[in-house]
Amino acid sequence: MKRILENNKKWVSEKLNDDPEYFNKLSLGQEPRYLFIGCSDSRVPSTAITGTGPGEMFVHRNIANMVVHTDMNLLSVLQYAVEVLKVKVIMVVGHYGCGGVAAAASNKQFGLIDNWLRNIKDVMRLHEREIISIYDEEARLRRLVELNVIEQVHNLSKTSIIQNAMLTDNPPKLYGLVYDLKEGLLRDLKVNVNSFKRYEHIYSVTEESEMV
Ligand SMILES: [Zn+2]
Repeated sequence: MKRILENNKKWVSEKLNDDPEYFNKLSLGQEPRYLFIGCSDSRVPSTAITGTGPGEMFVHRNIANMVVHTDMNLLSVLQYAVEVLKVKVIMVVGHYGCGGVAAAASNKQFGLIDNWLRNIKDVMRLHEREIISIYDEEARLRRLVELNVIEQVHNLSKTSIIQNAMLTDNPPKLYGLVYDLKEGLLRDLKVNVNSFKRYEHIYSVTEESEMV
């Protein structure tokens, strides 16, 4: 902890050296343009890999960058980001070499986390034909990381929060990105949110309900 506190003091003095009002300005409020939904993996630091600083990015991280519709933590972050902060861009960021995805792809038991990772097994079920057609294990896991990001963007688009936001004049744009640990590069998977409209008749919750 000593190292952390010393690093913090050093960072404060560097920032104040550049701008004596730096912290005063930040304390006035935040207007982040981005919401980052990423993996908890320590090698995927949200602000460092995107070149953003304090005040620019609202962040939610969990194991394997999941968007689970019963996750109150994620839903609260999402609602606040969309309805109060009015972020312009929401990105789901997966990464190759994700331990959570690899664990889900195996049949081993890891404890409580298996219940969280079960959601990735659902991604495997949805894309089983493609997944089993890739014989090389690393290539198969890399593709599963990408498919997981695409499915999480789909999950995101079907939350009531995003469905309602899409009815407004200036809805946030949704992106799915994948980060390569070996290169440090982020790649846009060009997830076509419109392709999810195929299932609109199932997922849409935008009609008024009649009180009974
Ligand atoms: Zn991960």
